Amino acid sequence: MAAEIRTFTCLNDNFGYLIHDPATRATASIDAPEAGPILKALEREGWQLTDILITHHHGDHVGGVAELKQKYNCRVVAPHDKTTRIANVDLRVANADVVKVGSLLARVLETPGHTLDHVSYVFDTEKTLFAADTLFSIGCGRVFEGDYPMMWDSLLKLRALPDDFKLYCGHEYTASNVKFALTVDPDNAALQARAAEVTRLRAENKPTIPSLLGDEKRANVFLRADEPSVAARLHMKGADAAAVFGELRERKNKS
Ligand SMILES: [Zn+2]
Repeated sequence: MAAEIRTFTCLNDNFGYLIHDPATRATASIDAPEAGPILKALEREGWQLTDILITHHHGDHVGGVAELKQKYNCRVVAPHDKTTRIANVDLRVANADVVKVGSLLARVLETPGHTLDHVSYVFDTEKTLFAADTLFSIGCGRVFEGDYPMMWDSLLKLRALPDDFKLYCGHEYTASNVKFALTVDPDNAALQARAAEVTRLRAENKPTIPSLLGDEKRANVFLRADEPSVAARLHMKGADAAAVFGELRERKNKS
């Protein structure tokens, strides 16, 4: 039986996600921005929370952990990194670890840069990637704790996943990302197509997530920093991809 995934809004623009295993009835929340909407989604479905898979220590990803743990006594899985400041953790995970959610398997990918402790969870059988604040649709997270080469390396790890994997990211930032991307990558037909789709989805008040990783590889300029056309557009012909990526990120910060 295929896993079921529910997507909803937490706080202002965070995504809440539940992944449910019909075979065992195990249910994981990916991060816990705040307890309220997660509790509501669980009640709506009649699901019991068994696990919380945390991606990084930021408050808008862990704010609901204590209350959910109190109510469900669920297992809390969090990054191993010793710089992390996450409380109530039962299991700490590092790169290539595999976490079970019932019979579902989540592979841990360390994707530092946004924070040093950031991990992404890959459900290979479900062709599903939870990338939180490393990779957004048509964007990427701000580089707060790492540096540009580190973040670029993390994006390359995610880019190496198959095209038919679905991307579930941490925030609904897609419209803003599209607006910026069109300023640096205006002739990209895949980006133009995504821009039209995002306009339509937002007009219908629907989430822009998930998106297909293959579409992101073609349309997301932050995944294309090693393409000569992108470097040329930034007057950085021949520059190192991590430097081009850094310039893109700086421009987005100022946009
Ligand atoms: Zn964050």
